[in-house]
Amino acid sequence: MDKVVWPCRGVAEHAYCPRLFYYMTVEGVFLPSSDTEKGAFVHKRVDRPSTAPGEPTKPTKTSDHPAVEKLEKGETDPDRPRSIRSLVLTSERLSITATLDLTEIDGDRAVPVEYRKGRPKHSRLSSNEPVDDMLEEPRLLPLPKPWPTDRVQLGLQVLLLEEAGYTVPEAYLYYAAEKLKLRVVVDDALRRDALAELEAAKRTAAGSRPAPLVNDPRCPRCSLQPICLPDEINHQRLTALTVDGVAAAVNADDLTPRKLWPPRDDGIHVVLQREGVKVGVRGQSVRVTDKDGQLVRDLPLANLESLALLGSVQVSTQALVVFADQQVPVAFLSAAGRLTAMMDPMGPTSAAVRAAQVRTLDRPEKALELARAVTVAKIANQRTLLMRNHADLPSRAASDMQEAVESATKAATIDELRGHEGNAAAIYFTHFAGMFKVGVEEIAKRFDANGRKRRPPPDPINSVLSFAYSMLTNECVVALRLASLEPGIGALHVTRPGRPALALDLMEPFRPLIADSVAVSAFNRGELTEGHFIHTASGCAMTDYGRKAFFGVYGRRMETEVTHPVFDYRLSYRRMLMLHARLIAAWLLGEVPTLAFLTTR
Ligand code: SF4
Repeated sequence: MDKVVWPCRGVAEHAYCPRLFYYMTVEGVFLPSSDTEKGAFVHKRVDRPSTAPGEPTKPTKTSDHPAVEKLEKGETDPDRPRSIRSLVLTSERLSITATLDLTEIDGDRAVPVEYRKGRPKHSRLSSNEPVDDMLEEPRLLPLPKPWPTDRVQLGLQVLLLEEAGYTVPEAYLYYAAEKLKLRVVVDDALRRDALAELEAAKRTAAGSRPAPLVNDPRCPRCSLQPICLPDEINHQRLTALTVDGVAAAVNADDLTPRKLWPPRDDGIHVVLQREGVKVGVRGQSVRVTDKDGQLVRDLPLANLESLALLGSVQVSTQALVVFADQQVPVAFLSAAGRLTAMMDPMGPTSAAVRAAQVRTLDRPEKALELARAVTVAKIANQRTLLMRNHADLPSRAASDMQEAVESATKAATIDELRGHEGNAAAIYFTHFAGMFKVGVEEIAKRFDANGRKRRPPPDPINSVLSFAYSMLTNECVVALRLASLEPGIGALHVTRPGRPALALDLMEPFRPLIADSVAVSAFNRGELTEGHFIHTASGCAMTDYGRKAFFGVYGRRMETEVTHPVFDYRLSYRRMLMLHARLIAAWLLGEVPTLAFLTTR
């Protein structure tokens, strides 16, 4: 069996948060944030490897900062101390490895210098330390100190250098935001603390993923917070403990999720469908050109979150490589909206989540739990949509739907559950046409006569529903992949070759909230009309103009914010899909005891 060698940077993350260490070092899950990107930039500058020993070096471009300039200058005199960038050291004995940003070597003396993009820790002087009493109101002046994580990382580097035969008299941390070089004393305490953290990290790695920190100020600054969902998971986890009569170890106020997520505004989600257009990338722009090479759209690459290409839209290989690098998934859909392929960036994927998915959904009682949760939420949302929009809904229909919710909650098998879901769908689509307003009676009447039919859709409403469900499936596949889940293995939907069964499961509660709602509002507001459809032997389909109008309504719906009934914060529907995909992953890993999906009132 391969012996695990731990990166020192990963062990240092353990000092920040054991769960962060577990995600990044044990599971390999990483999410770039603006902070980590700035950090990567600082390291990129520092991490250019030095030339091999003995090879003549030429002066490199110097930075604006004198400290950096000194360290980057080429060294030609063999008797002068050498500065080595990106020195890789590994210890079999300690099972650690590190790439040292910069090491100043003079004979058998070595001094490591670690770079950080941020600021050092500023602590306050204690009350018995001198302050400037010339000030009218003496202020406590901040003293810069290394962060504990940085100290651990430097301590491990010292151990590696010592094992390689060097004497390490001192070590430095360079904080780029303040252009400050801090000296760290190399003593037994530094070595002891680093070794203690290494041992703690090894113990953490041997177990399962640690629970999130509770109401902790470290979380809002953590790059992994959108994946970790500390407050949401603690809320589910600790509320359940309290309900079971086990006293939670935290104050009830600590359980109210802070709105940490999402950390930034929604990015751009682009759907391209015009025949013959080409997608390319130039610099930081995504450029869409027509058949004649004329620019039709120019989008900032940094804001692009997903791209969907319908029909015969072309994309260059170079652009695909850039999208993969930026973690932008690209969905290829047929002109009818069916997902045919997906360029899935080889991003950070947790094998632990996938293994848990296979293990858990193989157990009938667990598969039933997930299937029940999505079905109950779906029927409840169908009922709400009818009650909100139907001009004259018979009270019997509402009570029958409520009964279906209650029966689904108690279903003992997935087959029984499918039966309740089918009964509810029959009631729902019987009254579906009643949600269309005066002016679209003709279109509504045709749907009423046909009922819900998919292959082929015989009328405009069926056509829009089918297309909207296809687009939603694509969104669910993306959300599941971001949560490290395999879309092909589901619970309510049977796994079949090529079928995104779990995506279809996740989609259930959102069908009425997003797709059905888009159909109802697009016709009622006149954004889709009879003229946007063509009737062929293969059924009723939207024209190019029809699809353009559809995407306008669909895009607005995905960006509509809705309040989460449990977490009590607002998120767009697209982010809600991602949130629930991640909560499924947390449930599969046993981090949260129960599953509940979004329902609206
Ligand atoms: S969000 Fe908080 S609990 Fe989660 S990994 Fe980051 S610091 Fe740890």
